[in-house]
Parts: sequence; structure tokens; C-alpha cells
Amino acid sequence: MKLILLGAPGAGKGTQAANITAKYNIPVVATGDILRAAKSEGTELGLLAKSYMDAGKLVPDEVIIGLIKEKLASDSCKNGYILDGFPRTIPQAEALDAMGAEVDAVLSLEVADEKIIERMSGRRVCKCGASYHVVYLPSKVDGVCDKCGDALYIRDDDAEATVRKRLETFHAQTEPLKDYYGAKGLLVTVEGREEVEDTTAAVLAALEGVECGK
Ligand code: AMP
Repeated sequence: MKLILLGAPGAGKGTQAANITAKYNIPVVATGDILRAAKSEGTELGLLAKSYMDAGKLVPDEVIIGLIKEKLASDSCKNGYILDGFPRTIPQAEALDAMGAEVDAVLSLEVADEKIIERMSGRRVCKCGASYHVVYLPSKVDGVCDKCGDALYIRDDDAEATVRKRLETFHAQTEPLKDYYGAKGLLVTVEGREEVEDTTAAVLAALEGVECGK
């Protein structure tokens, strides 16, 4: 299965990507995770991405497209993948088409802005990629990752002003992708629920109806 996860920052794409990986055994390619790793390693890509990310803006298309091209050509993606955080603009979607990706479905996770702001203020993440919420999805031990035992932290770009800017960016630049993929008959919409497990059940049920390799 080749799947795109669409949704506002904080809609729960990362959490759902982890559930889908576990069920379908295909890798997650999360551009945000790749950029954060580059940022903390201080690579050229990381230095370039930092100023955009910290301001709640998108990293330039050509940078992201090059990164995805390389990832999707790798062996790990040959049986399918879940794209989390890409594409985020129409030019990125067009570039993905030009790579001959032929995705099977685009799953849009719908969550209202105010709910997102509430969620992101409680988000805690780990370097290993795991993500928690102090109220909705707490780790077993406060501040410690269940998966690897490392200390959890608050992402730089989860500050409220940055979150509002990221939501603005989402509505202006990413939301038009719903029409783009809707017109291709690929869009599947799932409402985010109060309980993570309910959203997971709705996502997995929606994916049951997806035909792969049409
Ligand atoms: P995320 O973890 O997906 O919310 O991404 C965090 C930040 O990384 C975003 O706010 C952007 O600055 C940058 N980013 C991630 N994916 C993309 C993309 N596909 N295009 C442009 N910027 C991106």
C-alpha cells in the first residue's frame, strides 16, 4: 500500500502512521522527523530547515522534493510506504506524480483548529519518534518514553504562536491538496475523535476499503 496522510499539524498523523505501520508492515516516511533529525545533527539540511521550521513556515519545495525522491527510491520503500507530512503543497504533489508514485489513497484526518491548539500544548515527543500527550496519551512514567526510556521533550514549534502560524500555513498551502486528490478519486476522510483508539479504529476501517495497485 502507498498511502498519504493529510491533516493539520497535531491532527494525529504520526500516531496513526505508527498504527498503520504495525498493521500493514510498510515504512513511514515522515519529512518532519527527517528534518528534525537533520536539525539536531546540525547537517547542512538541518541548518537550512531550522529557520523555516522554527517560524512555522514550510521548507522550500525543491529541498523536500529532493529528499523524498531519494527516500522513495530506497529498497525499504519498494513494497509501499506511508507518507506523513508530504506532500504539503500542490507543487510537491505534482512532483510526487512526476516520480510515478501512483498512491492508492490519501487519508485526511480532520480536526478543528481549537482542538489542535489544545492538543499541541500537551504534546510530548521522544527522539525515537514516539509521541505522547499529557492528557490523551500519557507515557507510563511521566516524562519518560515507553518505547526507549529516553526523556520526553516539547517540540520547539509546538509553542502556541508557532502552532497558530503552522495552522495558517496548513489552511493556505496544504488544504488545497484535498481537492487535488479528491478530483483523482483518492481522498478518504476520517474525523479525528476524542479518544485516540476511536480514531485508530475509524482509520483502520477506512483503509479496509482501499484497493491497492489499481
Ligand atoms: P511535521 O512534523 O510534519 O509537523 O513538520 C514539522 C515542520 O517541518 C513543518 O512545520 C515544516 O517547517 C517542515 N516540513 C515537514 N514536512 C514538510 C514538507 N513536506 N514541506 C515543507 N516543509 C515541511
